[in-house]
Amino acid sequence: MNIISCAICGSTNSKKLLTSHDKYIRVDNTKFTLVRCSVCELVYLNPQPTMEELVKYYPSHYPSYLPEYKVLEENRLLAFLKGIKKLITPPSSSASSPNETSSDTSRLRVLDFGCGSGRFLLSMRLAHPLWELHGFDISTNKEIKSIGHDVSIILDAPDTIGSYFEHESFDRIYLNNVLEHVNDPVATLRMLTTLLRLDGEMVIEVPNIDSIKFKIFRSNFFPLEIPRHLYHFSPLTLSKLCRKCGLSIIEVHKIGSAKGTVRSLYYALGIHKDKIDPLLLLVIDKMSKLLGEKWINDDSMIARVKKAAPNQSDAQKDVLSTHRDEGTFS
Ligand SMILES: [Zn+2]
Repeated sequence: MNIISCAICGSTNSKKLLTSHDKYIRVDNTKFTLVRCSVCELVYLNPQPTMEELVKYYPSHYPSYLPEYKVLEENRLLAFLKGIKKLITPPSSSASSPNETSSDTSRLRVLDFGCGSGRFLLSMRLAHPLWELHGFDISTNKEIKSIGHDVSIILDAPDTIGSYFEHESFDRIYLNNVLEHVNDPVATLRMLTTLLRLDGEMVIEVPNIDSIKFKIFRSNFFPLEIPRHLYHFSPLTLSKLCRKCGLSIIEVHKIGSAKGTVRSLYYALGIHKDKIDPLLLLVIDKMSKLLGEKWINDDSMIARVKKAAPNQSDAQKDVLSTHRDEGTFS
């Protein structure tokens, strides 16, 4: 475990938020501490486990790596796809997404960074037969590489991705629940920014630490997923991170589900269940709708981002640097 400084602003001043352990897969009871940066408000694990220490928290049955990834994720995938659809096809405008055409004759070159079992890529293949689809993941499960359907998948360490693809070669890059897992989100995002075309877009989904459910459930908030989630972003800190990496946010859309609430409730009650009680799910779902789904279901956020104009950031100048320098955000 390493004591680290804030990844966004470099400050070492932070406030302890809570201490908790792995409640999702329950690998062990080791305690980890979540802090909030006193300067830029980024929430992160500190001390932070190294990649070597984290290996055991990603066992072969980790849901993201299973083809039968259905515990909570069927619902989350649907919410994610709906969220993306809303983001890229705003009802009031037909011209806001130059890469999307109604007849989908486009041939976008797309990268899913942290593609897991490749399910999202396959769902994209169904919707977009002409797109050139690439996946990249750290997984050691070699079966993922042979998902077929003309989807190319590379399995390697995240920092090697630059050696596989040329600069500015992707129209769209997806990071679906990935950024919170990486040790250095600044280096990762800067590296991916170099792969994005000037008029391309990145779509980033991360848990939302500003969620009303975090305020209610605290250490039992399901998306904390300690210790696999090393960073927790809010719309504000995600925007700061993007600016530091030469990106700017076009739009943020919040999503969530009753299943996430039920999981959090189980944690709070100390119930260990792999399957969710359908009756409880129905009750929570109805309650969420009654109370206002839009502001209750905010567990995660999907941000649509683009390259910032050159005068907005000088981050591109030191794109390969992993040094966490002093930021200028306030
Ligand atoms: Zn900070």
